Amino acid sequence: KPIVVLVIGMAGSGKTTLIQRVNSHMHQQKLNGYIINLDPAVSHLPYGANIDIRDTVNYKNVMKQYGLGPNGGILTACNLFATRFDQVIQLVEKPRDPPLQYVFADTPGQIEIFTWSASGQLVTDLFASSMPTVVMYVIDTPRCTAPQTFMSNMLQAVSILYKTKLPMLLAFNKVDVSRHEFALEWMADFEAYSAALEADASYAATLSRSLSLVLEEFYDGMRCVGLSALTGEGMDELFKALGECVQEYQQFYVPELQAKQ
Ligand code: GDP
Ligand code: MG
Repeated sequence: KPIVVLVIGMAGSGKTTLIQRVNSHMHQQKLNGYIINLDPAVSHLPYGANIDIRDTVNYKNVMKQYGLGPNGGILTACNLFATRFDQVIQLVEKPRDPPLQYVFADTPGQIEIFTWSASGQLVTDLFASSMPTVVMYVIDTPRCTAPQTFMSNMLQAVSILYKTKLPMLLAFNKVDVSRHEFALEWMADFEAYSAALEADASYAATLSRSLSLVLEEFYDGMRCVGLSALTGEGMDELFKALGECVQEYQQFYVPELQAKQ
């Protein structure tokens, strides 16, 4: 069965551009990939999607039809699509020669539309109960060089980890602009993070310091890769890390799934 990679991250972190890069990498390496776009509001896709939510629902029509604003329109479009997602699973699982190896799913620009909605949950559960599924959490590295912004991003990642319970990979994107080593250091060494906060004695800085201690366990088990969707750096490391995530899925997720059935 193919490996499903749910690409999740803040708006502008580079999910769509990264998938374009992954797509050309897969072509180069003769890997058989499949791409699903779950963002109903994207105006232009830099890759050819095998399945595109926009072919099924037009969020602007949904807005008009249900008298909704843009966010409501996008959310409802996702919900409408989710009701037919079993058909997407069937398409993905259809026997092929050569068989599919990877499925990358692009998610809506606004992160909470996927992570805090019934449709996101449904899509995640349908994938994860049928195929090895991992979450690739995309981080805008240049925007994380401030210690408190870094913390907000990590908290977002933790909450997604606990919500999905799926193996997760932190993808530090845009390393062509800022290297991600500072982030690795902050995750590995509480003192280093604390020193970065030093200049700021505000309440939020104190909170960030405490949170950093709490997150040590989360940091420990986390796989991280530095990527650039622009230059293509890090693609081999990414695919290697995805392989490790699949092992984790087999080891921890599958037994839980079987216990539930
Ligand atoms: P999405 O909202 O997460 O799908 O983000 P997009 O893929 O639309 O990218 C947002 C912006 O970041 C665009 O202007 C991209 O060109 C830019 N971008 C994405 N990846 C990279 C990267 O690796 N390096 C640089 N320098 N810019 C990037
Ligand atoms: Mg996008």
